[in-house]
Amino acid sequence: MLSNGVSHNADDATALRLPTYPSNCLEFARPFMTPDNKISECVEKAKVPLNILLVGAGLGGLATAIALAQSGHKVTVFEQTPVLGEVGAGIQVPSNSTRALFKLGLEPYLKPYVTEPETISFRRWQTGKLIGNTKLVPDFTEIFNAPYYVIHRAHLHSALCQKLQDMRIDIKLGARVESYNSVAGSITLADGTTYIGDLVVAADGIKSVARKVVLGGKEMAFRRPGFAAYRATVDVERVRNDPELKWILERPALNIWIGDSRHVMTYTIGAGKAFNMVLSHPDHTDPSTWDPRKAVDDMKAEFVGWDPVLTKIIGLVEKTLKWPLISGSVLDKWVSDKLVILGDAAHAMLPYMSQGAAMAVEDGLALARSLSKIDSKEQLAESLSIFENVRMQRAGQMQEASLLNSQLWHFADGPMQEARDAAMIPEVKGLPFSHSPNQWSDPATQMWCYGYDTEKAIDEAWEKNFRKDC
Ligand SMILES: Cc1cc2nc3c(=O)[nH]c(=O)nc-3n(C[C@H](O)[C@H](O)[C@H](O)COP(=O)(O)OP(=O)(O)OC[C@H]3O[C@@H](n4cnc5c(N)ncnc54)[C@H](O)[C@@H]3O)c2cc1C
Repeated sequence: MLSNGVSHNADDATALRLPTYPSNCLEFARPFMTPDNKISECVEKAKVPLNILLVGAGLGGLATAIALAQSGHKVTVFEQTPVLGEVGAGIQVPSNSTRALFKLGLEPYLKPYVTEPETISFRRWQTGKLIGNTKLVPDFTEIFNAPYYVIHRAHLHSALCQKLQDMRIDIKLGARVESYNSVAGSITLADGTTYIGDLVVAADGIKSVARKVVLGGKEMAFRRPGFAAYRATVDVERVRNDPELKWILERPALNIWIGDSRHVMTYTIGAGKAFNMVLSHPDHTDPSTWDPRKAVDDMKAEFVGWDPVLTKIIGLVEKTLKWPLISGSVLDKWVSDKLVILGDAAHAMLPYMSQGAAMAVEDGLALARSLSKIDSKEQLAESLSIFENVRMQRAGQMQEASLLNSQLWHFADGPMQEARDAAMIPEVKGLPFSHSPNQWSDPATQMWCYGYDTEKAIDEAWEKNFRKDC
């Protein structure tokens, strides 16, 4: 406090503590509290560098390898496929994920490939009428200090691979892990070679072998809500050259048509070069019975009677891949001795919040942060337990939010659909609102989803643990 009674900003700022309850009342003060509001690429360095064996070079495994190596651990990645790559088309990289990826130094690697959509527009299935609207630019960048991107999966994957290569992280391809010994911290490959580390991190996807080891030989109960998705891309020039369709490319945007049990999400990827579509529909059949030769016709049949603009675009699709949509159940364990699972292995979810890979990226940063706190290898179990508790809650809630969207988006026309659409009118008109069934717009969900700081959550959990011990 200055003598004339006027407070000095810096003193006031140092005295401020971020509240422990969910609140944004101190957002205005952030520039005073931290010298630079930009995302620092500096990851906390580990005091005890570990030898870590990481299984799986999907989006989650690669991001985790980078986070762990950046904090000073020796990481070796084991990937079963002989050639690295990603299947599928577009993927959304929401602000919580870009913030984490930037922290890992990925910004320059991603920049050439990303598109930054300005809005997410919900549309009525039959007419395309705008019924919900979230402004991403500039709102998300300003509020969450990180942009919201869309990108081709292959580009995201190769950006991560490039970073891995630049960091000289060892990656072994064609290296299928057949068995795990969680007590010894070892893995054995299909060719019989065994590797021992201080810690084994398994990011081996939804069909994880490691998960069974963690769960004591039991398989997780899958939740099959009865949906499948077609994924397809259309040449952007064919859309641009059609006078009825070209409006959709005028500004980069996500558009989502929602109707009875179905929806279609569209956006451009490849920095605007390809038009990406995800078409979700009810399907209770066994994927082994699916005939890929019939996929394009089957897909078109699912959306007969929908908005003529949309069906015209669907008509341009020449090939498509059909994907079963499965959610994992919330596990009560991600860790067994020196083995930890993360990514889809631990928390596969419906893609309806566009957060599956984002959760895996957060996992990676959180694990690195938690491991950086230990002063000796004896604290490994404590560190993994803190990571597990924090991440199980976050990912479990994201699984829940994703399942909720499968209901919110899919009402048949009737009173619930009308009430939902009425609740989104303020955001369409640009009026103030306190709640919305559009989870991108709903203020409370937004803050929880996109404002989440995975490292801060770990710091707070360690702090709480420390206070408990005292
Ligand atoms: C239709 C659809 C749309 C989606 N959209 C989005 C979105 O917009 N945004 C988003 O964030 N997420 C999205 N997701 C989710 C996202 O794709 C996944 O959550 C994410 O790719 C999971 O990454 P992962 O690394 O955990 O697993 P995976 O990508 O499955 O990687 C696992 C890796 O482990 C390897 N592996 C497996 N077993 C072994 C073994 N025994 N030995 C060695 N290697 C092994 C595999 O070969 C693979 O490379 C979507 C998913 C779907 C289906």
